[in-house]
Amino acid sequence: MSNVKAENRVRFGVPADAMVFARGVRKSYGQLEVLKGVDIDVPAGSVACIIGPSGSGKSTFLRCINHLEKLTGGILLVDGEFVGYDLRGDRLYEVKDDELCQRRAEIGMLFQSFNLFSHMTVMENVIEAPTQVRRVPVDRAKAEAEVLLARVGLSDKIDRYPRELSGGQQQRVAIARAMAMKPKVLLFDEPTSALDPELVGEVLQVMRDLAGSGMTMVVVTHEIGFAREIGDQLIFMDGGAIVERGNPREMIANPQSPRTREFLSRVL
Ligand code: ADP
Ligand code: MG
Repeated sequence: MSNVKAENRVRFGVPADAMVFARGVRKSYGQLEVLKGVDIDVPAGSVACIIGPSGSGKSTFLRCINHLEKLTGGILLVDGEFVGYDLRGDRLYEVKDDELCQRRAEIGMLFQSFNLFSHMTVMENVIEAPTQVRRVPVDRAKAEAEVLLARVGLSDKIDRYPRELSGGQQQRVAIARAMAMKPKVLLFDEPTSALDPELVGEVLQVMRDLAGSGMTMVVVTHEIGFAREIGDQLIFMDGGAIVERGNPREMIANPQSPRTREFLSRVL
């Protein structure tokens, strides 16, 4: 552990096993406050599932973790290192651009819309970042990609283009591509929402395998069954704040807040 990390952990009381640690995270767009003080603890090797109505700030929060948005307040650490600002102490800390690229490379993000490079084959998609950002030799990157593509069940699609694949296959390529960077944490923003119902299962199966292999994951999803089965914690967000959190089984069976109850009754 670097000295910076050790110092941060002591200073903010970060648990030793924390991978993602947020306290009072705020984000505003002009007058609109989208995140109103979000706290989260995601221990390494665990899965946190986030649910909540549209517009509640789920995507914005993931984007903050991934350095795609700058916080307007609070503390956010990934593996003990700062994301964005720390406004609590007397010092204002902002991640510098050269660090930003490195940090972002350590965090994988999956989107509803897959976002594959359409002009590249499956293999080219998977080796792009390792070879360009991490300077991994092409042969090694390809060998690693083959292992990852086998893991997501796509060994036979290596030379295909995204348009030749189903949505479920494209999302599995996107997962293999994210894994190729050996991320510390994977963020999923409604990864199955754009899929036809019969393709949802194959993507959830890949995610289930990743969780089983000890990957740290933060998953925004409407798949309540998946959250109950795989989630180590379930977080319900509404209006830019966390309303309720807990053990997924307990929370789904017996939500404490009327807002959680009302939301679950609509999606279950
Ligand atoms: P969710 O993912 O839970 O549906 P979002 O994080 O996408 O919610 O959005 C939360 C709120 O922030 C919404 O009111 C949305 O309109 C607003 N918002 C998101 N991104 C921006 C932006 N770039 N500029 C202004 N408002 C935004
Ligand atoms: Mg969203």
